[in-house]
Amino acid sequence: MKQEKTSIITLKDAKNLSAASSPFYVYDEKAILENAKQVMDAFSWNKGFREYFAVKANPIPDIVKILVDMGCGCDCSSDTELTIASALKAPIMFSSNVTPAKEYVHAKKLGAIINLDDITHISFLKECAGIPETICCRYNSGGNFEVGPNCMGTPGDAKYGMTREQIFEAYRILKSEGVKNFGLHAFLASNTLTNAYYPKLAKELFTLAVELKEKLDVNISFINLSGGIGVAYHPDETPNDIYAISEGVKQQYESILTPAGMEPAIYTELGRYMLAPYGQLVTRVLHEKHIYKEYIGCDACAANLMRPAMYGAYHHIIVLGKEDWPCDHIYDVTGSLCENNDKFAIDRKLPEIKTGDILVICDAGAHGSSMGYHYNGKLHCAEYLKKTDGSFKLIKRAEKPADYFATFRIDPETGNERWK
Ligand SMILES: *Cc1c(COP(=O)(O)O)cnc(C)c1O
Repeated sequence: MKQEKTSIITLKDAKNLSAASSPFYVYDEKAILENAKQVMDAFSWNKGFREYFAVKANPIPDIVKILVDMGCGCDCSSDTELTIASALKAPIMFSSNVTPAKEYVHAKKLGAIINLDDITHISFLKECAGIPETICCRYNSGGNFEVGPNCMGTPGDAKYGMTREQIFEAYRILKSEGVKNFGLHAFLASNTLTNAYYPKLAKELFTLAVELKEKLDVNISFINLSGGIGVAYHPDETPNDIYAISEGVKQQYESILTPAGMEPAIYTELGRYMLAPYGQLVTRVLHEKHIYKEYIGCDACAANLMRPAMYGAYHHIIVLGKEDWPCDHIYDVTGSLCENNDKFAIDRKLPEIKTGDILVICDAGAHGSSMGYHYNGKLHCAEYLKKTDGSFKLIKRAEKPADYFATFRIDPETGNERWK
């Protein structure tokens, strides 16, 4: 085991909170702060460095605020995310992606840096909101992006960004439209578990930035390495080392940008790396079922955490109070959706589990509850922040049936028609 997974919450506290409502999410404020501090510290060699937290990973304002208060900005990609970032007075990066006009208008009004996903969006943005003085363009290198033996992105199959030719053309047009400061962005591989991803991406983007500057005489004020730094979901995996990653980026910076007389700020848009390990889904075992396989049924389901169902993602499971028991049983751990992929674990070796046990599903702090959905009419659960003083603060209440019914023309609770 390369890293021991531990529960954020004790069995006693978990019992108390789950008596109020189960399942629930819990986040560890102290660990979020420590990790964010390391990210800032690792990149402090770069004058303008800023992490724009990817809000889609976890939009709960209390969580985003922890990062914003530490100096992070927000990376947003929708109207509601813009509203959340703006309420927290965060500097904003707006990642366009099939963007409606009203979101460009909203982003521009908030003074967000707009990251254009496509060359055709230049005229679209000009028409709906006008071209700002600072703008970013998203690059897609095409083909495969190999980072290591077990790590590859496939940008050639991704819907994002502009081709190399288009980036040159986009910068040329934008310069003629009065843009003064340019940014360059790319996201070429996701959840990378190697310290080599950012340095390799940096080399590609820095080289392109020098060419853009030399060919078009533009001022490149920042380079955005985006997200993609992964976390070790499995205990046998080795976590990334943010200091090694930053050092690798620095070496590329000094060998490519410095000689070209350039000193752009480095931006990141980490989501997973900022939060995944510091949030857990806590769920109670409702049933044990013995048929052709052994099933443990719990009160959380894929609607609370869809990564296992959607990607077959591994999430480590701790049985609270049985941490030291031998893992001599093999279970499928399931939720209650009428959908057979609703499994948090398949053929997982675990200690003997009994009805009433509390399970902690690890590494659910990013792309966890934010991917939640309402299939089978399932409601989103409560979420708590474990504060640095050890107390628990409710940061998102559990949804009530009325929340779910609120958008229907016929209100199922009263039978009333809300509109004709
Ligand atoms: C999803 C996303 C991120 C964050 O990705 P992580 O894998 O969580 O680090 C950053 N930037 C953009 C544009 C994204 O779409």
